[in-house]
Amino acid sequence: MTGKQARRIAEFIEPLRVRPGRKVNLAKDFDPAFRPLGLRRKNSAGLLDRGIALLADYQRRLAAENTHGVLLCLQALDAGGKDGTIRHVMSGVNPQGVHVEGFKVPSTEELDHDYLWRYACRLPARGDIGIFNRSHYEEVLVVRVHPQNLDRQKLPQSAKGADVWERRYREINDWERYLSDNGFSVVKLFLNLSKEEQRTRFLKRIDVPERNWKFSAADVHERGYWDDYQRAFSEMLSATSTPWAPWYVVPADRKWLARICAAAVLAHTLIGIDPQYPTVSDEVRRDLAEARKELEAEAPHGAARDPYLAEHEGASRDGKRAEKRKKVRA
Ligand code: AMP
Ligand code: MG
Repeated sequence: MTGKQARRIAEFIEPLRVRPGRKVNLAKDFDPAFRPLGLRRKNSAGLLDRGIALLADYQRRLAAENTHGVLLCLQALDAGGKDGTIRHVMSGVNPQGVHVEGFKVPSTEELDHDYLWRYACRLPARGDIGIFNRSHYEEVLVVRVHPQNLDRQKLPQSAKGADVWERRYREINDWERYLSDNGFSVVKLFLNLSKEEQRTRFLKRIDVPERNWKFSAADVHERGYWDDYQRAFSEMLSATSTPWAPWYVVPADRKWLARICAAAVLAHTLIGIDPQYPTVSDEVRRDLAEARKELEAEAPHGAARDPYLAEHEGASRDGKRAEKRKKVRA
């Protein structure tokens, strides 16, 4: 990763970032069909693949360093593309280092706890990338749009006042600050879908039998609350985009573009963390040298003393020879 590549990624995602303190009006400020840096599909070939390879490399280092963790929160309306984004963006990384957690209607046990409890239980460990498919932000989205959800949360009267949403924004900001202060980066993506594109995707789910399972009549009912959700998203983005955990609004009407944006934001975060493979002390290096001697002494008759090194050095010799041949020919 060169400094130039890192700057290019930062420049690409900058228009998606919600500046902390900015008052967002989603419909006015963010176009679901926006193209960062004017990106066209025909010019994007290989971009996602390169992003995926980059993420795989950084994820290996993150796991090896075992100091930082990353929490990626994905929010969207139905058919916004959360599942597909996770599938594509994470396709190249080691499954051992990534955990995807989906959040549905809370269970009775979950309702018996404070509202952040179930999210805290499923946070990533150091060295891991955790993905929340829906997240603690549902607590100021679906719960706000349908206040009967709040009634089910068994809150004391004193915690149900008119200031409940402002308070939740503050609590969520504080919680994320606590996580980031302790080595866990919180990355927040809102996949911003247009109403017309949602209609198209719903119809596809009805038209294609293999997609029927993804659709429920409740989805159309929920679509009836479109404007309420846009307001709740706008307020949430205004109140919870912070210097330690900013929101990125990803234009989601084009799936290929949304995936490139998601990979770019995640890559930007990992570049910022810059995890390193641990180096070994002189003492450990001496132990390694001893172990090498023992293993080399065990080489069977006719075998290379160190097959890895033999092959590796051979390869680099072959490479040098090929270079020489090329020069001679030229
Ligand atoms: P899906 O992601 O399509 O499988 O649906 C999950 C459902 O759970 C959505 O309808 C969400 O609105 C709902 N849900 C997620 N979190 C909460 C929550 N905290 N309170 C109420 N409903 C929720
Ligand atoms: Mg659904």
